[in-house]
Amino acid sequence: MAGNRTLTIIKPDAFGAGKAGKIIAHLEQQGFKVLAARVMRLTDRQAGEFYAVHRERPFYRSLVTFMTSGACMPMLLEKRDAVAALRQAIGATDPAEAEAGTVRKLFAESKERNAIHASDSDDNGVREAAFFFPDTDVLAAQG
Ligand code: GDP
Repeated sequence: MAGNRTLTIIKPDAFGAGKAGKIIAHLEQQGFKVLAARVMRLTDRQAGEFYAVHRERPFYRSLVTFMTSGACMPMLLEKRDAVAALRQAIGATDPAEAEAGTVRKLFAESKERNAIHASDSDDNGVREAAFFFPDTDVLAAQG
């Protein structure tokens, strides 16, 4: 059964441009509840580890440089069937291909500087939540 929690990150492009409040309001309007949040600047090592799955991709270094270029805002969100709901709410990776009304269509600059991250599966949601919120047990009730 799909879980009710997922991990998101307001990326440095959007956070640095002062769009965090609007993005959170947009998500709250769609029924997401913020369970935990922090503001931090990722180290090269943290960003590299977080995106390790993309290590062999040509954009990996550029992505890590972007994700360490300024503060970002990881958040743990709750909603029914949260992973699928948030993936739908953020839109396609490339804002040019994202549907109207999605976070990326509204707030993203480019395929790389695309405003927001969202976990793509329940398993990754659990792993990514633990990455940023190791001291919380809010994921324990997943399911
Ligand atoms: P997501 O799940 O929609 O975030 O997309 P992916 O997991 O495929 O990629 C992770 C992140 O890498 C994306 O959100 C973008 O910031 C970046 N990215 C993906 N594809 C490209 C690309 O073709 N070029 C560049 N420069 N960055 C990309």
